Amino acid sequence: PPDVEQLGRSTWTLLHSIAATYPSTPTPKEQSDIKSFMRLFAKLYPCWVCAEDFQNYMQKKEVEAGSRDEFGNWLCEAHNEVNRKLGKPTFDCSKWEERYGTDMAD
Ligand code: FAD
Repeated sequence: PPDVEQLGRSTWTLLHSIAATYPSTPTPKEQSDIKSFMRLFAKLYPCWVCAEDFQNYMQKKEVEAGSRDEFGNWLCEAHNEVNRKLGKPTFDCSKWEERYGTDMAD
């Protein structure tokens, strides 16, 4: 099985990068696509305890995908929830775009 820590670091980079390139004003289709992606991601993530907890989290806190800001903050909060569970420091979510934003975004 994959190394849970290394897999986690790579995966968070991918997810936050997807948020950074998510449209500021997404169409209904783009919103439903990101929700489907996150639902299937949470189902297929190859760390089964992680996946189970993350699926439960997503049932309590539904994906917010109305804009890049909304999705980026939702994801940052989800990552912070995992940080808390693992006893890691939380991240200041007002800074997520500064960290992960790229020229790819628009
Ligand atoms: P990571 O948490 O991997 O973060 C990488 C970098 O992102 C950090 O160094 C920091 O600079 C930055 N960062 C930190 N918090 C945020 C934030 N909120 N928003 C934006 N950037 C941030 N591991 C387990 O042992 N048990 C689990 O149940 C578990 N569940 C997981 C669920 C998911 C969906 C994912 C993607 C990973 C999960 N992991 C789990 C892995 C875990 O979250 C870490 O990735 C792993 O422990 C390595 O941690 P790290 O200290 O390198 O930093």
